[in-house]
Amino acid sequence: METRSIAIDGPSGAGKSTLAKMAAKRLGMIYVDTGALYRSIGLYALRNGVGSKDERGVERLLPEITLEMCYDGAGTQRVILRGEDVTDEIRAPEVSIYASDVSAMPPVREFLLQMQRDMAVRYDVIMDGRDIGTVVLPSAGVKIFLTADPEIRARRRFDEMVAAGRSAEYEEVLRDINYRDVNDSSRAAAPLKPSEDAITVDTSPFGLDESFEKVLEIIEARLKSGAK
Ligand code: C5P
Repeated sequence: METRSIAIDGPSGAGKSTLAKMAAKRLGMIYVDTGALYRSIGLYALRNGVGSKDERGVERLLPEITLEMCYDGAGTQRVILRGEDVTDEIRAPEVSIYASDVSAMPPVREFLLQMQRDMAVRYDVIMDGRDIGTVVLPSAGVKIFLTADPEIRARRRFDEMVAAGRSAEYEEVLRDINYRDVNDSSRAAAPLKPSEDAITVDTSPFGLDESFEKVLEIIEARLKSGAK
C-alpha cells in the first residue's frame, strides 16, 4: 500500500518537533525526529573521544553503530544506540553541537539516508529535519519549511529547558542556535534550505496554537487535493 509522507524542515527551535508531533497525533501518522539520529552519532563520537570535526575518525566509528527507532506507549520516539536507550542523553547541549558538526559529513548523511527512507516506505510519516523535502523524501506529498527569528527560537528553547527543570542561560542558547544555523546552512552536503516546492511558515508572530492551525491548514489542503 502506498504511504503518505509529510516533510517538515527548518532551523533549530522553529517548533518543528512540537508541531510535527501534534499533527502526527491528529492525523494518525508516525512522527519521525531525524535530528535524534544525528544526535546519536554525535553522542557516540563524543563518548569515544573523537573530535566533532574529525571526519575520518567519525567515519571509522560508523560500522560500530547500530540505531533503532521505536515508540513507547505514549507514542514518543525512543532512539536505541547499540542496544542502549539514549533518548534523553542526546538532548545535552554538547551533543547538539556534535550533532551539527557530524551532520555536515557526507558519510554520516549516507549512513542515515536509507534508514529514514525505510520508515517512510513502511509507515505514514511526518518527518522533521533539515533536508527531508530536498533529499530524504523529495516526493513527499506535503513539504513545510518552518522558520522564526533566531531570538524568538532561542527564547522558546530556553523556556522549554527551564520548564523541563534543566539549567540554561538564554545567551548560551542563542549562541548555540546561531552556531547551528550557520553550520547547517553553509555545509556542502544537504544544506538547510527550503525545497522549491515547500510552503514556508514563519512562526515568529504566532504562539503554539496559531502555528499549529497554520500547519494543519496547509497539510489538510494538500491531502485533500490528493497529495501523498
Ligand atoms: O533537529 P535537531 O536540532 O535535533 O538536530 C540536531 C542536528 O542534526 C541539527 O543541528 C542538524 O545539524 C542535524 N540534522 C541534519 N539533518 C536532519 C536533521 C538534523 O543535518 N535531517
